[in-house]
Amino acid sequence: MTSISAAIPSFIILIMFLACFFSVPRIPILTNRIYIRILICDLATSALNILSSDAHYSFPKYGVPLTYALNTAFFLLLLLRSYLFFAYSASLVNLNHYNSKQSAWVLRIPIIISYVMVLSSPFTGACFSITGKGFVKGRFMYILFACIFFYIAVSLLAIVIHKSNLNGKREFLSAIAFNILIFAGGIYVLFNQRSLIIDSFCLMALMLIYIAFENPDFYIEKRTGLFNSSALSDYIQEMRYKKQFLIFSFVIKNYQDVREIYGVNNMDSGIRLIGQYLKSTYPEITFFYFKEGRFISVASADTDANTLCDELIERFTKPWIAKETELYLTIAFAKLTPETEIKSVDLTISSVITALNRAAKAEDGICAVVCENDIREYVKEIYVKKVLEITVEENLVEVFLQPIVETRNLRVIGAEALARIRDREGKFISPGDFIPIAEKNGCINTLGEQILDKTCKFIKENSLDSIGLSWINVNLSPMQFFVTDIANSYDEIIKRNGLDFNIIHLEITEEAMVSQSLLMKQMDSMQKKGFQFVLDDYGTGYSNLTRLQKCPFINIKIDMGLVWSYCKEPNLLLPSMITSFKSMGFSVTAEGIETKEMAEAMINLGCDYLQGNFFSRPMPMPEFTRAFAMFA
Ligand code: C2E
Ligand code: MG
Ligand code: MG
Repeated sequence: MTSISAAIPSFIILIMFLACFFSVPRIPILTNRIYIRILICDLATSALNILSSDAHYSFPKYGVPLTYALNTAFFLLLLLRSYLFFAYSASLVNLNHYNSKQSAWVLRIPIIISYVMVLSSPFTGACFSITGKGFVKGRFMYILFACIFFYIAVSLLAIVIHKSNLNGKREFLSAIAFNILIFAGGIYVLFNQRSLIIDSFCLMALMLIYIAFENPDFYIEKRTGLFNSSALSDYIQEMRYKKQFLIFSFVIKNYQDVREIYGVNNMDSGIRLIGQYLKSTYPEITFFYFKEGRFISVASADTDANTLCDELIERFTKPWIAKETELYLTIAFAKLTPETEIKSVDLTISSVITALNRAAKAEDGICAVVCENDIREYVKEIYVKKVLEITVEENLVEVFLQPIVETRNLRVIGAEALARIRDREGKFISPGDFIPIAEKNGCINTLGEQILDKTCKFIKENSLDSIGLSWINVNLSPMQFFVTDIANSYDEIIKRNGLDFNIIHLEITEEAMVSQSLLMKQMDSMQKKGFQFVLDDYGTGYSNLTRLQKCPFINIKIDMGLVWSYCKEPNLLLPSMITSFKSMGFSVTAEGIETKEMAEAMINLGCDYLQGNFFSRPMPMPEFTRAFAMFA
């Protein structure tokens, strides 16, 4: 009897657990469906285990036929539960998708044989019989254990063989662990008389599965209540093998800017409102929230994307009423049609994101269709990432130099160090392609240090005077300011190479101005070490004169876009800008000088320095030394 009363608390825990699980949304994928089936089956098995054990202990209270019925039902459910655990393991490693129907049936043979044995037991006594003493094990009872252990063994094998389909070591170990728990329960029962302890082991296994795989935090985006990007991956992964589908997506245009304008909290509540609206208006479509204002849905192939676009445009003409403000947002769309065949889930999602980015730059209301180019762009990104990884690991980055000319005497006075990387065939990849990736994956910090170090070595090995240079500008990515001890690491590089600080000028772009406090703090600590700063690409970011005045720049580089548009059609903006900078004490460099006329125009506006292909393209260091040694 003790064993029965011990089983009741775990039975109650299971009911509570089931209620919790049903109260949160679940992605409609096989793994989740099997998990629910295990929960229900486990509940029924535990109930029948308690009842049949009670029938055994208080025999003949229940009578022989009912005791037979309870035991038969219990063993059938016990076998079904172990089969479902196996099915869960198989679905975790995506085995179901590759398996043929034949092999699926072969794997069902053990449970079918066991079912026949159990169902025939009342007549043959094969697995058990009910005698005058109550429940008695039959000669073939061990076949049932063999069946349970068979499914555990196959599960473990599948997990080990296909572990690459699991997300990392944690998932792998959890998948092994829950199978070992079921195994331990089976072994315990095998060597002990009738026991309810197996249910406690299964409950532990179910909890472990919940913690490791079914936890809603893994796939629900907190702000929107919609499913997140990893849920999207799992869902597409499964849909790919099942049926054709349409991916329909939209993005809030200029998401980062509107987030700045409305504030983070308001924007978050706006995103939540959009999530709720999508859920209630389109219950038949599963929407996912994919970071930075992107909503992606996987809908049935016959969904009318144009109508969806129209309806959403209509809704977005009205504001979203957040707590403190009304948010006016505009959106752009992209879709991936069912005919587009894409090889992997990552590629599918990334192509949609690329198409969304494209749509965000296009006219309002246009729905971009994922095309070959979007797919190619992602493949290129993966390739650049790989090259970048090797380059940083083996310190292969090359530094090119582009001269900066003094307008006073048209002589080279400085240079800008520009990073170059090459793929295995020696083909250059442009900084425009690899710097954003390096910024995204964090390797910009090591890369930045390697570039600075190589520039310092160049200065150490070549007397700058001999090539007529007074300083070299090195670009510093805004992302590098997130590294708290950048001042120390940069300081260490300069000192290690035995250089003076005034020989290196650090160029930072206007983007860095977004986080003014961080910028000021980092610039301040670097300035204390002796570094000098140049503001790069002025005219492309957010800065204004008040902000500028607070930062210790020695020079402002006007973005080539501003220079080009002035040279095409002179305006009042650039001259007044240059005058203001000069009156504030900054020297001014004009970038992107491509012709003699452009150089003259910028000299006339009072620029102090010029840089551009008219003077020279960026060149490898040895070439630069050869070219400029003769002019020095
Ligand atoms: P930037 O710092 O504004 O560098 C100037 C860019 O303009 C260089 O492109 C240069 O080759 C190009 N350029 C110079 N003169 C002309 C011209 O007359 N016409 C045209 N069309 N282009 C000209 P590059 O080397 O492709 O670099 C692009 C950007 O990548 C740089 O813009 C900078 O933001 C970033 N970058 C390059 N090297 C580094 C680096 O070492 N670290 C970091 N963080 N960023 C870098
Ligand atoms: Mg620059
Ligand atoms: Mg620039």
